Amino acid sequence: MPELPEVQTVVTELNRKLSGKKIVEVSVRLPKIVALGPGTLPPKRRAQVHKVIKFIKLLKGQKIKSVTRRAKIIIIDFYGPLSLLVHLKMTGQFIYFRKSQLQKRVRILNKPTAPLLSLPTKYTHVIFTFTDGAKLFFNDTRQFGYLKLVSDAELPHVRELQEFGPEPLARAFSSQVFENILKRRPNMPIKQLLVDQSLIAGIGNIYSDEISFRAKVRPARRVKTLNEKERHAVFAAIPFILKKGIAAKGSSVGDFVRTDGSWGTMGKYHYVYMRAGQPCKICGTMIRSMKFGARTSSFCPKCQK
Ligand SMILES: [Zn+2]
Repeated sequence: MPELPEVQTVVTELNRKLSGKKIVEVSVRLPKIVALGPGTLPPKRRAQVHKVIKFIKLLKGQKIKSVTRRAKIIIIDFYGPLSLLVHLKMTGQFIYFRKSQLQKRVRILNKPTAPLLSLPTKYTHVIFTFTDGAKLFFNDTRQFGYLKLVSDAELPHVRELQEFGPEPLARAFSSQVFENILKRRPNMPIKQLLVDQSLIAGIGNIYSDEISFRAKVRPARRVKTLNEKERHAVFAAIPFILKKGIAAKGSSVGDFVRTDGSWGTMGKYHYVYMRAGQPCKICGTMIRSMKFGARTSSFCPKCQK
């Protein structure tokens, strides 16, 4: 699942590529992937044709002002009083091609055996065409992602935008803020605290494992057992690891791709994530994994206490 560094990579690239562009055409190939208004989407989504027609009608002619994000939600802001909120969830992807690039073929599944495909593929659910002939494709193999169009007046009422904890890369995320979060969950394993979106925004499985490794604490350690030095090590590791992920343009260990269809390179720098059974890059000890409910966490039993 794309985490903060992957979403930030998409946002930075789309903001550069889309700002000032005007939409001339919208094609919705999977109706349940789009939504209107601030309401939360039910787990079982139904396609509503009249909503799709309205979605297309509202977006045609809109000019993009900026692309930003809150936590893992991408916010495409238009000059008109509208914003398009996009959650990539597990496997959502945005790929942007200029008119001259439309014949390009990309590997949208991250397997060495995955075929090179031209867009749209059967996983392309929404296509935006701009006045200059460029196209933006939204692909999603597992179809958990969504594109939700809201008016600026509705924006403060979008629940998923209110439910997040602080942005870990914001200046306001101080050691005091982090200490207060830890105090609220003394019995929680540190891994679980790091991935809880209501406590800190944007960290998931990849980066929580890498943060724990850098801080030299095991993911299962309960918050109250961390000494001051360890708490500070976790706090310092959060921006360090997230910035490293952004600099590498994200990790394509999952099906994440950049907006030109290429892969992020953070995967090369993982110390523990998805490396169970391989030797630790620092001490050579075999990396171990353990289950946390539905999640698997990896750690070095020697480097991490
Ligand atoms: Zn080690």
